[in-house]
Amino acid sequence: MKKKAELYAGKAKSVYLTDDEDHLIIHFRNDTSAFDGEKVEQLERKGMLNNKFTAFIMQQLETAGIKTHHVKLLSDDEALVRKLEMLPIECVVRNISAGSLCRRLGVTEGLDLEPPTFEFFLKNDALHDPMINDYHIRSFDWATEAEIVEMKKMTFEVNTVLKKLFKDAGMLLVDYKLEFGRFQGQLLLGDEFSPDGCRLWDVDTREKLDKDRFRQGLGGVVEAYEEVAQRLGVNLE
Ligand code: ADP
Repeated sequence: MKKKAELYAGKAKSVYLTDDEDHLIIHFRNDTSAFDGEKVEQLERKGMLNNKFTAFIMQQLETAGIKTHHVKLLSDDEALVRKLEMLPIECVVRNISAGSLCRRLGVTEGLDLEPPTFEFFLKNDALHDPMINDYHIRSFDWATEAEIVEMKKMTFEVNTVLKKLFKDAGMLLVDYKLEFGRFQGQLLLGDEFSPDGCRLWDVDTREKLDKDRFRQGLGGVVEAYEEVAQRLGVNLE
């Protein structure tokens, strides 16, 4: 598959067209951003780690019957994926309270949420990704009713699979963000699943092993990502 023109350069990844109209190449860069791009740094090895981590997770999800855009790894920091018509929506599930949920609702960090919460956010940096609900999605036609149902279903299926995967490796899946897109009449999981877009805590010490280390200036960001990958048995060769 030949790499063609750059289609889109996001905050952490660049997306390239290929000579096949159904496929794209995603390049995971070392750029790390937080607070809607206000804090940006280059973290050595992060692109490679997130690329291989995402491929590993997508394969686990496929094995569990969840359809994803992932096709194969192409290099340390590039992967071949199916070209989706992305929905401008982020789906967030929270198993434990943290981050913006605590600020918004005035609750303390670390509360077990049973049942877990589900939130939709609009993908819009200029508006700081505002929280939206099913009615906004329908009124503005950001997705169909059936797609709303499917996104929720798939996002919770991911929770079942990944909560166990991380727990078995000594980690708590606190929360995560997913993005979906259309491909040949089906909804597929797109984008990435990495410590950039989820929260992971050590099950015993509750040490943060995700992008909160970067947001909060705790240091050891890449080391934490590497630790998570090693615990899961991700091949980093
Ligand atoms: P952002 O746009 O939020 O800065 P990234 O730096 O992660 O994000 O850029 C990656 C972009 O590629 C995102 O906008 C994402 O929605 C999009 N994308 C991810 N997977 C696919 C796919 N399979 N097909 C088309 N676009 C995709």
